[in-house]
Amino acid sequence: MQDISFWDSCLRSFEKSLPPQQYNSWIKPLLLNSENGSLVLTAPNSFTLKLVQERFLPEINRQAGLVYSRVPPFEFRVLEAEPATKPCDPPAPKKTAPVNDNKPRVEASFRNYGKLNPNLSFNNFVIGKANQLAFAAATQVAELPGASYNPLFIYGGVGLGKTHLIQAIGNQIKINNPQAKICYMHAERYVSDVVRAYQTNKFEEFKQYYHSLDILLIDDIQFFAGKNKTQEEFFYAFNNLIDSHKQVIMTSDTFPKEISGLDTRLVSRFGWGLTVAIEPPELEMRVAILLKKASLGGYVLDETVAFFIAKHVNSNIRELEGALKRVEAYVKFHRRPVSVETAKEALKDILIAQSRQISIENIQKTVADYYHIKIADLLSKKRTRNLTRPRQTAMSLARELTTMSLPEIGYAFGGKDHSTVIHACKTMANLRGLDTTIDADYKILLLTLRG
Ligand code: ADP
Ligand code: MG
Repeated sequence: MQDISFWDSCLRSFEKSLPPQQYNSWIKPLLLNSENGSLVLTAPNSFTLKLVQERFLPEINRQAGLVYSRVPPFEFRVLEAEPATKPCDPPAPKKTAPVNDNKPRVEASFRNYGKLNPNLSFNNFVIGKANQLAFAAATQVAELPGASYNPLFIYGGVGLGKTHLIQAIGNQIKINNPQAKICYMHAERYVSDVVRAYQTNKFEEFKQYYHSLDILLIDDIQFFAGKNKTQEEFFYAFNNLIDSHKQVIMTSDTFPKEISGLDTRLVSRFGWGLTVAIEPPELEMRVAILLKKASLGGYVLDETVAFFIAKHVNSNIRELEGALKRVEAYVKFHRRPVSVETAKEALKDILIAQSRQISIENIQKTVADYYHIKIADLLSKKRTRNLTRPRQTAMSLARELTTMSLPEIGYAFGGKDHSTVIHACKTMANLRGLDTTIDADYKILLLTLRG
């Protein structure tokens, strides 16, 4: 009785504290019962179990402490594996199936669409904090397709590795089981297939093809939004595959519930399996990716250069790759070695664009250092000449290098009015035209701040 009330309150507390996606993926599937004085916590698979032990056990223990005077020992178990037949085993010849005249034609008309790109593998996928959960889930699904998380739904912003990861799953399954019938497809392609099947009256073929797959990988499912006929067809294919333990994996640029124009039936089914996010990579991971890409390209990239590029290209991995390619092309063309200097030259445009994101604190610190004054004085209301000039310089630089509004800049300078900022910018423009030293100082500061 106590065990039930403990688990009940534990579930309720997690439901309150965790995002629904996490609660549904990790906590809800857990079972608790007591056996010989121990509390037995059962997870649907070893991956979930490991994650729960690492991330949630302290809180589970804390909850137990609130209910039991002496907390019983915990035991951890994994639910029995799914049915013995592996979904990807080559399908046994169907003894009773009637010979279907359409079949060869079906194969021929749809087969060639779903090709995988063998270059996108787990081997060349760099793992970091941003994608470790998605990666763990992906490898798990690749090892046990149809028997672990079904569907697997991976979401994240552009250029963060969704396509790479979903294709890596497909490639790995293919290595483990060359006979598996795998289809990788961009959602747009699926939409146009539905349209074509409509136009040519070939829905039966279309259905047969999708229902015959072992693994269906659909990329960028947000393209289904608002396409009702597509969603209806996909709903059939999806249910059919899931029911027969065939693996379905999807990606999208947002969390399924946030894809507007997606049938709620689909949204809710997508939640049956596991939904994982890929986040933007942090600095160290971006460096690791650059080093990896360079080594795949057959050379060793100096770490300082990698840090330099990674520091300045922080949007996504595709851009990071693009930046490295630009550096490579630049040094090849100019026959110079890869260095921070050549990287700087090659990425000039990016650096200029990036300079617009310089922080106001950075500007204030740089200006204060340059004029040997204190930041506090720069932000103060003191009006001595040795402070007003640097202050006006810093305000103008903030105007030029950040996207902040005039009131925001004024506020950041010790709560000054936006008219003070306007005045500072005008004064600086005037002075720079009149006094070459002031102009030179300003230019040096600009260069310093832009790196
Ligand atoms: P998305 O589909 O999320 O827009 P992609 O999978 O196309 O992003 O990734 C963009 C590029 O970055 C690809 O060339 C891909 O190989 C590379 N990439 C993404 N994530 C990683 C990673 N973790 N390790 C190595 N390369 C990656
Ligand atoms: Mg993609």
